Amino acid sequence: MKIFCLANVMLLSAILLFICGCATVAHTDRAQLMMVSEENEVAMGTEAWQQVMASEKLSTDTEKIHTVERIGGNIVKSLGAAANKYPWEFKVIESDTANAFALPGGKVAVYSGLFKYAANDAELAAVIGHEIAHVIARHGAERMSHQLALQVGGAIAAAFMQESQVQNMDLWMQAYGVAANVGAILPYSRKHEYEADYLGLLYMAKAGYDPRAAIAFWNKFSDPSKESALTAFLSTHPMSGSRIQEMNRRMPEAMTYYQQSRRL
Ligand SMILES: [Zn+2]
Repeated sequence: MKIFCLANVMLLSAILLFICGCATVAHTDRAQLMMVSEENEVAMGTEAWQQVMASEKLSTDTEKIHTVERIGGNIVKSLGAAANKYPWEFKVIESDTANAFALPGGKVAVYSGLFKYAANDAELAAVIGHEIAHVIARHGAERMSHQLALQVGGAIAAAFMQESQVQNMDLWMQAYGVAANVGAILPYSRKHEYEADYLGLLYMAKAGYDPRAAIAFWNKFSDPSKESALTAFLSTHPMSGSRIQEMNRRMPEAMTYYQQSRRL
């Protein structure tokens, strides 16, 4: 009986996959399960963003606000059509927490506590580029797709996806990385972290920020003496020496983009 059920689940998954299909991440060419339209993704991401923003205290520090908006704007501009389709918003949340997060559809927040660890614009661009990469690679919608595939059967999923309005906000928000208690941002998978690191390096470099600053920045997070201060960031962006190693391996490619941007 169990085998029969498993076969059913596999068949349903296959049908779902067939109906809804796959997408490919730009530049890395990684195939991803994608059962969420971009339109829905933007609508749900915006809804989740408004809920998070309503529960957080926004910074009034105009220098920090302008810095984040300027860097975010520069990176988005350098990415052209891949980024232009999203209604971007870059906000600074007032908090001692050293963290940043992105929600689908072009929403990026940096906590004011992170400024203590970013020595210059390029280091901040490393974080913002990483968060923008989560958005453009559609990591939130991919996580949502996996949850749908796991949690709901074919008929329910079909009905769910046909509804343009929010049917189950908690499910959406969890899938997008916002826990039921708004404000707690859930970690991405290691696969998504590595991909956002790589794409983030290229994005910052294209916008004219020296990608080597990313190594300087992320190294601060692998310093055990600072671990307690940076716990929040580490909980949502699991860091390890191998992530830095991988960024170093990608550095020559990022440097070609950086040098091109310098010639423009
Ligand atoms: Zn991340």
